Amino acid sequence: MGQLQEFDRQVIDQLRQAQVIEDMSREGLDLSRGVIVIRCPDGDQMLDRIEHDRQTAIAAGVTPRIHLITHHGGCMVVAPDSSFYPGRGIDEYVLEQIREAEALKEIHLVLAEIHAPCGKAASLGLTLVHQIVLQMAAKPRIKAVDPTNKVLCRIHVDFADGRKRTYFISRAKWLAFWDAQGRALWGHLFEPLMMETCDPSDTQRAPN
Ligand SMILES: [Zn+2]
Repeated sequence: MGQLQEFDRQVIDQLRQAQVIEDMSREGLDLSRGVIVIRCPDGDQMLDRIEHDRQTAIAAGVTPRIHLITHHGGCMVVAPDSSFYPGRGIDEYVLEQIREAEALKEIHLVLAEIHAPCGKAASLGLTLVHQIVLQMAAKPRIKAVDPTNKVLCRIHVDFADGRKRTYFISRAKWLAFWDAQGRALWGHLFEPLMMETCDPSDTQRAPN
């Protein structure tokens, strides 16, 4: 079981200071119909994450309805040209699962998650920055399943000191941060090919 890498912890600190990631708030969220959650199945984290969403629903005065779509890589598998399971059609499979979940359960709030430390991401040599870039690239495809759905991106972190936290990450703020600081800080982490396909400052900007 991996520990949170120091680099990834610093990324979280920097993004929190820049208010790109913030503590999850239910303000403005309609949880009454439940949530579709796309995430890694990590057995060491699942109970904490389900309990978080259960308590959030209860605090909002609604019955928890947590509809999981789970596979290694979570939302990152639907990023264009994702390095997760290339050529296996998993992106279309997951998009179909979202479509079905919405139709079967009438849930219109989709939570697209990544987490750290993520064993699958680590096995591919990805840092948290790579994970965020893939998550941000995945969001427009998830939104396109039904543009009337609300799609939010989250990061679950298991800190080395035992704290576990769920954060919200704004795509609009991430893109602005990337232009202002991120590319200079972390652009070197990306191969030229990946920058072409997954550049977070590309033209596919969707509203947050
Ligand atoms: Zn994972």
